[in-house]
Amino acid sequence: MGKEENSNHKLNNKTNNEKADARLEQYTQSENLTNRMGQIKHKIMVLSGKGGVGKSTVAVNVAVALAMNGRKVGILDTDFHGPSVPTLLNLDKARPSSDGTSILPVEFVEGIKVMSIGFLLQNQDDAVIWRGPMKMNVIKQLLSEVNWGELDYLVIDFPPGTGDEPLSVAQLLPNSDGAIIVTTPQDLSTNDVRKCINFCRQVNVPVLGVLENMSGLVCPHCGNVIDIFKKGGGETMAKQMNVAFMGSIPVEPLIVDASDSGKPFVYHYSKTAAAQAFAKAIEPILDIKEKQKPSSDVVLSEKKSDTTLRIAVPVVQDRLSPHFGHCETFAFFDVDVENKKILHQESLAAPPHEPGLLPTWLHERETDVILAGGMGQRAQGLFEEKGIRVLIGAPSDAPQNIIENYLNGKLQLGDNICDH
Ligand code: ADP
Repeated sequence: MGKEENSNHKLNNKTNNEKADARLEQYTQSENLTNRMGQIKHKIMVLSGKGGVGKSTVAVNVAVALAMNGRKVGILDTDFHGPSVPTLLNLDKARPSSDGTSILPVEFVEGIKVMSIGFLLQNQDDAVIWRGPMKMNVIKQLLSEVNWGELDYLVIDFPPGTGDEPLSVAQLLPNSDGAIIVTTPQDLSTNDVRKCINFCRQVNVPVLGVLENMSGLVCPHCGNVIDIFKKGGGETMAKQMNVAFMGSIPVEPLIVDASDSGKPFVYHYSKTAAAQAFAKAIEPILDIKEKQKPSSDVVLSEKKSDTTLRIAVPVVQDRLSPHFGHCETFAFFDVDVENKKILHQESLAAPPHEPGLLPTWLHERETDVILAGGMGQRAQGLFEEKGIRVLIGAPSDAPQNIIENYLNGKLQLGDNICDH
């Protein structure tokens, strides 16, 4: 090999290794995300069309009310530009700790676990320059690296509107239970709320219901609720939009006091009409049944052993098929990743290449990972939805060599040669 050729060869190997490292890191992060989220029964998103309607107040009080019903609860605050959960819980000075491999959330009353972007920012202005993909990465990291342990509910608070943060979570948690949409009576008929509901529909997040906040005033003298705005608007709007109505929380000056002093309102003022309204609003959330088999959230955690994986390789003429959609058979390998061993292998004829069939077929055969040459983005998304990780750019080699190299960390991944 000439000098120039040799250095090109080294350069190629270096970029290949970097690509493989990046893919492996991505894979490990996705696996962590799947496992961690698999320990959480319900993920509830709290959204609003615009700011100032009491969304964070609702997120915190819904979480505390769930915990007061004996549920194990976590709160995740994803607001980069105005994380208010630490202030609402008087945790401004708190910082999450680490056990060396994961981030440990801050503990609050009733065993509630709290994680906020606010804990990670040195000062509020830090977030201003953050753009979509960076936010997506941080949120992914929070979902995959925070060790929540087993939870019944993770309540996720977002910035107002339908920006990068809820979009990222909707993509990363395709099995979330749904969103509570918070609005005030004055905003009920505005486009913001409809936009929010339509956003949920577009990204496949079920709408748990609309919760009307600051509707009616609690009289400080007699404690009765005075309806300042016409009553019933929330219900009418919910009916029109075909979503559930979760109730109305009145304007309650004690909520402002409690928020300003970092005390969760429903915990300290449980006898008030507003706290009772929160208790009523969460009834349907308490009743949500655990999903039978939320595909991508629990598949990996249901494996027989934590160190075994089932890998599928698309094959044509005894070698990896560079074009995923053109394979004749699939070679399946059950491997022990810790001991770097192939435990079992078999080959099955590929099913007809009809749209949407392969993700289900491979999922039914308990595939954890696909090692492919090339695959289109849409197909990759369909497999991810089923909890199957896809590694692209594997060489057109004999399947057994590919698996052995994979287990020994020697697999060279190149480009996606078939991105259609
Ligand atoms: P958002 O998250 O929608 O921007 P916040 O939860 O920060 O809104 O609430 C905005 C302000 O309204 C806070 O001062 C909060 O204490 C107050 N607030 C929220 N809900 C109520 C309510 N039902 N009654 C009185 N004040 C409320």
